[in-house]
Amino acid sequence: DTVTIRRALLSVSDKTGLVDLGKALAAKGVELVSTGGTAKALRDAGLDVKDISELTGFPEMMDGRVKTLHPKVHGGLLAVRDNAEHVASMNEHEIGAIDLVVVNLYPFVQTVAKGGTREEIIENIDIGGPSMVRSAAKNHDFVAIVTDPADYAIVANGETTLAQRRKFAAKAYALTAAYDGAISQWFATVDQGETFPETIAITGARVAELRYGENPHQAAALYVPHGAKEKGLAQAVQVQGKELSYNNYNDADAALELLAEFKDAEPTVVIVKHANPCGVATAATLVEAYEAAFKCDSVSAFGGIIAVNRPLDGPTAEAISGIFTEVVVAPDANDDAKAVFAKKKNLRLLLIGEIPDAKRGGLIAKPIAGGLLVQTRDNGAITLDDLKVVTKRQPSEQELQDALFAWTVAKHVKSNAIVYAKEGVTAGIGAGQMNRRDSSRIAAAKAAEAAETHGFAETRTKGSAVASDAFFPFADGLLAAVEAGATMVIQPGGSMRDDEVIKAADEAGLAMVFTGMRHFRH
Ligand code: 5GP
Repeated sequence: DTVTIRRALLSVSDKTGLVDLGKALAAKGVELVSTGGTAKALRDAGLDVKDISELTGFPEMMDGRVKTLHPKVHGGLLAVRDNAEHVASMNEHEIGAIDLVVVNLYPFVQTVAKGGTREEIIENIDIGGPSMVRSAAKNHDFVAIVTDPADYAIVANGETTLAQRRKFAAKAYALTAAYDGAISQWFATVDQGETFPETIAITGARVAELRYGENPHQAAALYVPHGAKEKGLAQAVQVQGKELSYNNYNDADAALELLAEFKDAEPTVVIVKHANPCGVATAATLVEAYEAAFKCDSVSAFGGIIAVNRPLDGPTAEAISGIFTEVVVAPDANDDAKAVFAKKKNLRLLLIGEIPDAKRGGLIAKPIAGGLLVQTRDNGAITLDDLKVVTKRQPSEQELQDALFAWTVAKHVKSNAIVYAKEGVTAGIGAGQMNRRDSSRIAAAKAAEAAETHGFAETRTKGSAVASDAFFPFADGLLAAVEAGATMVIQPGGSMRDDEVIKAADEAGLAMVFTGMRHFRH
């Protein structure tokens, strides 16, 4: 099942590694056939190349739309070499076998990304390339299809094995599927302004197999979508530490998404456990922010995932090293910080360069039995101008700041979410309860425990702002916040019993604002 390559057809847009491959193949006596630009590149390097037009007997025409679409090409790719009829057809029509195809496609996604005109984008839909890719892959028993310069080394010796050709075929069809997926999505979304394309193609390259999934009996891998424009956690550089697990990625992503809200803020630290923040703080320095975030819920912070919005420095790394931490995500880290962490062999340090944009759009998907739920990203954000004061008492400037901070954190807490915050620090977080009153109570209880553990003069919920990710359906959740000492409430509003809730707030002397926006998160 080893095929000796006698004739190779090379037609590539990305000419990386082309000349080296051409030379290696020529040295093995392989005949090289190429389209215009590829032939020129090979010839310029001193190689002997046959033009595709010589092989087909037709010129390349129509701005390159028709170059390789010809029976002499596709017959040479698709003929079953040990089928007498196929061989007879080859002889009758003077079709020569092609044993290797090296193709990469017109840069469609890149043309879209760099803001090409509609005409340029359409012209960058490759037709002949994918056709050759598909023909060669179908006939992988005899033909090798190479679509990735990283694979050139495999065929440079002038031979291919069946196992290699099967692998190439799988990769080739993944490429054409992703390519057409991107084209279809562009037509539906960018070109016609629809949010949801007719079909959704989630194709990407596997970049890592993970130790296991959410649990040890589950398997897991990490993929990066083809043509992904944005860089994020999946592209992070791991400086040190154990291999990342599925849960590490999931938690680090939750931390990074929340941190993204503070991309341009003062130094900010987010500590996450089980995809929920257990402490968030903004302060004058990163180390102060870490200490404040840590004290919010130091019990939960053990084994936590930390994200910071400034390059990591030595003092912060020292402070983080005080307890066991699974993962630290930072834009960068200085040598001091790296030296401190080097002593913590298991700690995973991930450097992401730029923090993602919290306001970016896009679709997110969640599989359900027999289907896939798709929605737009929750990139909703509010500013002071969006807030509507609904109580008799007007909030103070500080209360408004605290309210917005608490609200921003609450957006990233699983529902039902209640977050107390004061002066840029979360005081208590209640996450993921099945009713809002319990989340309120849990948040207050955590704050009380933190005060006791760390010897605060008073519980930090005293004089705090409390945020609720959705409206309070009854006054009870609000009353729990009053009991905890909150003086300011931020919530979407819109409950049937808003009047009751506003009345309770007025009676307790609270200031309350409605955002008109809800942030469920499940
Ligand atoms: P070159 O730079 O060699 O002139 O062109 C290489 C590119 O042309 C490759 O990306 C290949 O996929 C593409 N290509 C090859 N044959 C055809 C064809 O018949 N029609 C179109 N539209 N593209 C082709």
